[in-house]
Amino acid sequence: MEIAVSAVHKGTTIRRAADHRPRPGVPILMYHQVAPLAPAAFGKYSVTPRAFAAQMRWLAMAGYTPVDLDALLSHRGSGAPLPRRPIVITFDDGFQECADHAAPILQSFGFTATFYLVAGLMGQPSRWLLGERGVEFPLMDWNTARKLYSAGFTCGAHTVTHPRLAQLPAAACREELRRSREMIEERLGCEVAHLAYPFGSYDERVREIAAETGYRSACSVQIGISASDDDPLALHRVPVSGYDTLTDFICRLRTARPAGELLRGKARGAWRHVRRLAGRAA
Ligand SMILES: [Zn+2]
Repeated sequence: MEIAVSAVHKGTTIRRAADHRPRPGVPILMYHQVAPLAPAAFGKYSVTPRAFAAQMRWLAMAGYTPVDLDALLSHRGSGAPLPRRPIVITFDDGFQECADHAAPILQSFGFTATFYLVAGLMGQPSRWLLGERGVEFPLMDWNTARKLYSAGFTCGAHTVTHPRLAQLPAAACREELRRSREMIEERLGCEVAHLAYPFGSYDERVREIAAETGYRSACSVQIGISASDDDPLALHRVPVSGYDTLTDFICRLRTARPAGELLRGKARGAWRHVRRLAGRAA
């Protein structure tokens, strides 16, 4: 049982069980690339295999159990139990190097994860990144995706061509969402119920089309620990940056933010507080 409330009463610290509090949130980790080398333009989105292995080792040591999105939705929908310290691990874009480097590390810990695939660009370069960041990387082909699925990983959809869905006319948006689900289902022979919005681009209309086209969950890029009342079609995630130290990663598991950012936030808060006090004293 969570012990979350403490109060000082007659000089004694009393700790009360927090039955009335909402169930704690679940971190949904968001990775993009896992590769030994990354161009500076993609450094933020690329974690080295060494850092990734250290992060997975930490999860194992700290008692986290990766679960898939089906388990998370069942828990939130019907109260199906989750293991202690559940966590969801996701990879956007379906980079080949994630299959090469991240998947074997995940398997060595017995961890599950979800790979969001750009269904119309399988086995091709990540063309959209050329315009965005001046870089591109090979995307896994269908054969590799099939192997990941057979090994127990989840394959979700990340549209057909990786557009900004909120900027598309409704019909084109519907086609991106419907067609990518169908392509992955046809090629892998699995049900596809999970989506990640490219660039995190979605609005109420896109969200409705996602529901209409058969998705039960959709990940956004809104930063946060996914709370028990999080919208299943706009789930918050915890980004893992290529610049994170292990301390940052550990900090993100609880707060979604790296250690430095939190400390800067706290320092700003403390400074504001001091200024307020100084203002009152003046
Ligand atoms: Zn993407």
